[in-house]
Amino acid sequence: MANDSGDSIECLFTAAQIEARIAELAKTLSRDLQEVEAPLFIGVLTGAWVFMADLVRRMETAVQCDFIRLSSYEGGESGGQITLESAPRADCRGRHIVLVEDIMDTGLSLRWLCDYLAPQAASLRVCTLLDKPARRRVEARADYTGFTIPDRFVVGYGMDYNGRYRELPFIGVLPVR
Ligand code: 5GP
Ligand code: MG
Repeated sequence: MANDSGDSIECLFTAAQIEARIAELAKTLSRDLQEVEAPLFIGVLTGAWVFMADLVRRMETAVQCDFIRLSSYEGGESGGQITLESAPRADCRGRHIVLVEDIMDTGLSLRWLCDYLAPQAASLRVCTLLDKPARRRVEARADYTGFTIPDRFVVGYGMDYNGRYRELPFIGVLPVR
Protein backbone atom coordinates (compact mmCIF):
# COMPACT_ATOMS: atom_id res chain seq x y z
CA MET A 1 0.00 0.00 0.00
CA ALA A 2 1.51 3.39 -0.99
CA ASN A 3 0.89 6.52 1.06
CA ASP A 4 0.99 10.17 0.00
CA SER A 5 4.76 10.43 0.43
CA GLY A 6 5.33 7.39 -1.74
CA ASP A 7 6.55 5.20 1.17
CA SER A 8 5.37 1.69 0.68
CA ILE A 9 3.67 0.26 3.76
CA GLU A 10 2.99 -3.44 3.78
CA CYS A 11 -0.12 -4.39 5.76
CA LEU A 12 0.67 -6.75 8.64
CA PHE A 13 -2.73 -6.73 10.39
CA THR A 14 -5.92 -5.34 8.90
CA ALA A 15 -8.36 -3.24 10.92
CA ALA A 16 -10.70 -6.26 11.05
CA GLN A 17 -7.94 -8.56 12.37
CA ILE A 18 -7.02 -6.01 15.05
CA GLU A 19 -10.65 -5.59 16.06
CA ALA A 20 -11.17 -9.34 16.37
CA ARG A 21 -8.03 -9.82 18.47
CA ILE A 22 -8.92 -6.92 20.78
CA ALA A 23 -12.36 -8.42 21.34
CA GLU A 24 -10.63 -11.63 22.51
CA LEU A 25 -8.23 -9.73 24.76
CA ALA A 26 -11.07 -7.74 26.32
CA LYS A 27 -13.02 -10.92 26.96
CA THR A 28 -10.08 -12.50 28.78
CA LEU A 29 -9.34 -9.32 30.72
CA SER A 30 -13.00 -8.87 31.66
CA ARG A 31 -13.06 -12.41 33.04
CA ASP A 32 -9.80 -11.93 34.95
CA LEU A 33 -10.91 -8.59 36.41
CA GLN A 34 -14.42 -9.74 37.34
CA GLU A 35 -13.75 -9.63 41.07
CA VAL A 36 -11.40 -6.64 40.96
CA GLU A 37 -12.62 -3.35 42.34
CA ALA A 38 -12.22 -0.36 39.96
CA PRO A 39 -9.29 -1.52 37.83
CA LEU A 40 -7.18 1.39 36.57
CA PHE A 41 -6.07 1.11 32.94
CA ILE A 42 -2.94 3.17 32.29
CA GLY A 43 -2.04 3.73 28.64
CA VAL A 44 1.52 4.53 27.61
CA LEU A 45 1.51 7.64 25.44
CA THR A 46 1.55 8.23 22.68
CA GLY A 47 1.55 4.94 20.80
CA ALA A 48 -1.03 3.08 22.94
CA TRP A 49 -3.86 5.62 22.77
CA VAL A 50 -5.79 4.00 19.89
CA PHE A 51 -5.40 0.50 21.34
CA MET A 52 -6.45 1.74 24.78
CA ALA A 53 -9.57 3.42 23.36
CA ASP A 54 -10.68 0.27 21.54
CA LEU A 55 -9.75 -2.09 24.39
CA VAL A 56 -11.67 -0.27 27.14
CA ARG A 57 -14.77 0.03 24.96
CA ARG A 58 -14.83 -3.76 24.66
CA MET A 59 -14.54 -4.34 28.41
CA GLU A 60 -17.48 -5.94 30.14
CA THR A 61 -16.51 -4.53 33.55
CA ALA A 62 -16.26 -0.90 34.64
CA VAL A 63 -12.75 0.51 34.35
CA GLN A 64 -10.98 3.79 35.00
CA CYS A 65 -8.51 5.26 32.52
CA ASP A 66 -5.33 7.26 32.85
CA PHE A 67 -2.10 7.77 30.91
CA ILE A 68 1.63 7.91 31.48
CA ARG A 69 4.33 9.35 29.24
CA LEU A 70 8.01 8.44 29.24
CA SER A 71 10.86 10.05 27.40
CA SER A 72 14.03 8.47 26.24
CA TYR A 73 17.31 10.13 25.26
CA GLU A 74 17.68 8.08 22.10
CA GLY A 75 14.32 9.23 20.74
CA GLY A 76 11.01 7.47 20.35
CA GLU A 77 12.14 3.96 19.75
CA SER A 78 14.11 1.63 21.96
CA GLY A 79 15.77 4.31 24.05
CA GLY A 80 18.58 3.99 26.52
CA GLN A 81 18.01 6.37 29.43
CA ILE A 82 14.32 6.52 30.34
CA THR A 83 12.71 9.30 32.36
CA LEU A 84 9.16 10.01 33.44
CA GLU A 85 7.71 12.87 31.41
CA SER A 86 4.14 12.76 32.68
CA ALA A 87 2.82 10.70 35.60
CA PRO A 88 -0.75 9.40 35.78
CA ARG A 89 -3.08 11.91 37.43
CA ALA A 90 -4.67 9.14 39.50
CA ASP A 91 -3.14 8.05 42.77
CA CYS A 92 -1.84 4.58 41.88
CA ARG A 93 -1.29 3.49 45.47
CA GLY A 94 -3.24 0.36 46.31
CA ARG A 95 -4.85 0.23 42.85
CA HIS A 96 -5.30 -2.75 40.56
CA ILE A 97 -3.51 -1.53 37.46
CA VAL A 98 -3.58 -2.74 33.87
CA LEU A 99 -0.71 -1.18 31.93
CA VAL A 100 -1.57 -0.82 28.25
CA GLU A 101 1.36 -0.70 25.79
CA ASP A 102 1.48 -0.49 22.01
CA ILE A 103 4.57 -2.64 21.49
CA MET A 104 7.27 -4.39 23.49
CA ASP A 105 10.62 -4.13 21.81
CA THR A 106 13.83 -4.09 23.86
CA GLY A 107 11.73 -4.35 27.02
CA LEU A 108 13.47 -1.34 28.59
CA SER A 109 10.31 0.80 28.78
CA LEU A 110 8.24 -1.98 30.24
CA ARG A 111 10.87 -2.80 32.83
CA TRP A 112 11.01 0.88 33.84
CA LEU A 113 7.22 1.09 34.01
CA CYS A 114 6.92 -2.05 36.12
CA ASP A 115 9.65 -0.83 38.49
CA TYR A 116 7.73 2.45 38.83
CA LEU A 117 4.19 1.09 39.18
CA ALA A 118 4.53 -2.29 40.90
CA PRO A 119 5.68 -0.96 44.29
CA GLN A 120 2.64 1.35 44.49
CA ALA A 121 -0.01 -0.93 43.04
CA ALA A 122 -2.09 -3.63 44.71
CA SER A 123 -1.64 -5.59 41.49
CA LEU A 124 -0.13 -4.94 38.06
CA ARG A 125 -1.06 -6.61 34.80
CA VAL A 126 0.60 -5.77 31.48
CA CYS A 127 -1.34 -5.81 28.22
CA THR A 128 0.57 -5.14 25.00
CA LEU A 129 -0.87 -5.10 21.52
CA LEU A 130 2.37 -6.24 19.88
CA ASP A 131 5.48 -8.08 21.04
CA LYS A 132 8.79 -8.25 19.18
CA PRO A 133 10.68 -10.82 21.30
CA ALA A 134 13.68 -10.94 18.91
CA ARG A 135 14.69 -7.42 20.02
CA ARG A 136 14.57 -7.98 23.77
CA ARG A 137 17.54 -6.58 25.73
CA VAL A 138 16.15 -7.04 29.21
CA GLU A 139 13.77 -9.57 30.69
CA ALA A 140 10.21 -8.33 30.27
CA ARG A 141 6.95 -10.17 29.85
CA ALA A 142 3.36 -9.19 29.22
CA ASP A 143 0.38 -10.94 30.78
CA TYR A 144 -1.73 -10.29 27.67
CA THR A 145 -0.33 -10.01 24.13
CA GLY A 146 -2.27 -9.18 20.98
CA PHE A 147 0.18 -10.38 18.36
CA THR A 148 3.79 -11.59 18.40
CA ILE A 149 5.63 -10.13 15.42
CA PRO A 150 9.05 -10.49 13.77
CA ASP A 151 11.75 -7.81 13.99
CA ARG A 152 10.18 -5.24 11.67
CA PHE A 153 9.42 -1.56 12.24
CA VAL A 154 5.65 -1.11 12.35
CA VAL A 155 3.41 1.92 12.08
CA GLY A 156 -0.29 2.69 12.17
CA TYR A 157 -3.05 2.12 14.70
CA GLY A 158 -1.49 4.75 17.00
CA MET A 159 2.16 3.95 16.22
CA ASP A 160 4.32 6.46 14.39
CA TYR A 161 7.49 7.06 12.49
CA ASN A 162 8.68 10.63 13.15
CA GLY A 163 5.18 11.62 14.19
CA ARG A 164 3.48 10.19 11.10
CA TYR A 165 1.15 7.28 10.30
CA ARG A 166 -0.60 7.12 13.70
CA GLU A 167 -3.98 7.59 12.03
CA LEU A 168 -3.74 4.52 9.79
CA PRO A 169 -6.51 2.06 10.76
CA PHE A 170 -4.25 -0.96 10.10
CA ILE A 171 -0.77 -2.01 11.30
CA GLY A 172 1.84 -1.96 8.58
CA VAL A 173 5.56 -2.46 8.12
CA LEU A 174 7.61 0.56 7.14
CA PRO A 175 10.85 -0.40 5.39
CA VAL A 176 13.19 1.75 7.52
CA ARG A 177 15.58 -0.88 8.80
P1 5GP B 1 11.11 -0.79 24.22
O1 5GP B 1 12.29 -0.89 23.32
O2 5GP B 1 11.44 0.00 25.44
O3 5GP B 1 10.52 -2.13 24.52
O4 5GP B 1 9.99 -0.01 23.42
C1 5GP B 1 9.93 1.38 23.50
C2 5GP B 1 8.88 1.96 22.63
O5 5GP B 1 9.44 2.10 21.33
C3 5GP B 1 7.60 1.19 22.38
O6 5GP B 1 6.66 1.29 23.40
C4 5GP B 1 7.11 1.87 21.14
O7 5GP B 1 6.44 3.06 21.49
C5 5GP B 1 8.42 2.15 20.41
N1 5GP B 1 8.63 1.11 19.39
C6 5GP B 1 9.31 -0.05 19.48
N2 5GP B 1 9.24 -0.75 18.33
C7 5GP B 1 8.50 0.01 17.49
C8 5GP B 1 8.04 -0.16 16.14
O8 5GP B 1 8.28 -1.17 15.45
N3 5GP B 1 7.30 0.86 15.61
C9 5GP B 1 6.97 1.99 16.32
N4 5GP B 1 6.24 2.91 15.70
N5 5GP B 1 7.37 2.17 17.59
C10 5GP B 1 8.11 1.20 18.15
MG1 MG C 1 4.95 2.50 23.67
